Amino acid sequence: MKVLIVGAGGVGRVATCKLAEMIGESVDEITLASRTEEKCRAIASDISEKLGKTIHTAQVDADEVPEMVSLIRDFQPGLVVNLALPYQDLTIMDACLETGVHYLDTANYEPRDTPKFEYHWQWAYHDRFASNGIMALLGSGFDPGVTNVFCAHAASNIFDTIDTIDIIDCNAGDHGLPFATNFNPEINIREITQPGRWWNVDHWEEIEAMSVHQSFDFPEGIGPKDIYLLYHEEMESLSKHLDIQKIRFWMTFSEKYLTHLRVLENVGMTSIEPVDFNGQQIAPLEFLKAVLPEPASLGPLTKGKTCIGCLIRGTKDGQPKTHYIYNICDHESAYAETGAQAISYTTGVPAAVGARMMIDGHWMKPGVWNMEQFSPDPFLKELAQRGLPWTEVEFDCSTLATQTNNNTPSVGAS
Ligand code: NDP
Repeated sequence: MKVLIVGAGGVGRVATCKLAEMIGESVDEITLASRTEEKCRAIASDISEKLGKTIHTAQVDADEVPEMVSLIRDFQPGLVVNLALPYQDLTIMDACLETGVHYLDTANYEPRDTPKFEYHWQWAYHDRFASNGIMALLGSGFDPGVTNVFCAHAASNIFDTIDTIDIIDCNAGDHGLPFATNFNPEINIREITQPGRWWNVDHWEEIEAMSVHQSFDFPEGIGPKDIYLLYHEEMESLSKHLDIQKIRFWMTFSEKYLTHLRVLENVGMTSIEPVDFNGQQIAPLEFLKAVLPEPASLGPLTKGKTCIGCLIRGTKDGQPKTHYIYNICDHESAYAETGAQAISYTTGVPAAVGARMMIDGHWMKPGVWNMEQFSPDPFLKELAQRGLPWTEVEFDCSTLATQTNNNTPSVGAS
């Protein structure tokens, strides 16, 4: 099948490398298109040098449905892999509907003026995709993405009942810069400055942004780090599609990062409300993005590891059980292999693996679907072979702190 990849950032780079490895197996040809074609050409040239594979390139503004439609008609792919920004999800899905082509992304649609991180806009396409005989796979990155598959694996292969899921995302990497975000700064800052939320049986509990934290001791030499309770999009689909009681999402942040963020928030630089500057309307956060380092530029600088996984509590054969499933990814190894750091790597590899699941027919069903709605087994097998092996262990909850800073449920608590 021919694959059209849209977006030549860090994630686009990794996914293109991994899909290029599949040329001659599941993939026939690849075009990488983005707003700035130069970035596509740089990636194509690296892949040609390293893997001896040809990647075609193109320029496209994916906000414009007619431009996407004409690119699709020209190249005639069977699948569009959307690795641009969440703002482009619906225009790309519209173009896929118009041309009858399958769709995959790694982040849910967001309107520019409301940082909501909700799936309903994309779920609303289900019937139209189904009746056109095409499929959309949503959130095929790491979180969302692999974390959803870890949960599906726990539900189908490990537990009889699941009580609580804690998704824990640790970036223990250091780029040595005073402040930078490791994926698109605008999306990253929108995500963490909104109120925190977690699913409690039948409703969302809301907390002030970044107000709940505790320490968690990460495996494989990473050690204890502060983790913060956040809202994250996969909780919406997992609480809907799996039979679970509670789900929470935690992420590590360093004190240095939080201090910079607090200052930027206090001076209004994280706002998405446009302000008038010399007669021009500018959203402060969009301006901030323009002056912060590009995530792709952190590749050669970042050292250390990421550890992203799910701590899951439930029962098996009537006995309580706690299971921890995680992946460790090394920034320097990711960079040596693909020219991008581990955050891009842990997102781009699952994007390519999700694409392969669709192309090979393991996951192929007309309609709009989330990752946990398919069998986890073929995905996890391919994921390990493509550079992201995972570890699963019985977990001793007595090693965990029993409280957060303000008595909201601690990680691992039921
Ligand atoms: P970057 O900002 O590095 O790259 C985004 C790319 O998309 C850039 O090359 C940009 O072009 C291009 N682009 C932006 N707007 C358009 C447009 N209108 N038309 C065509 N191309 C466009 O982001 P990342 O690579 O870090 O992230 C890519 C996606 O992955 C994002 O949606 C992000 O939210 C998601 N993500 C998901 C994760 C997960 O685990 N699920 C984790 C990390 C990221 P230009 O260079 O010209 O600006």
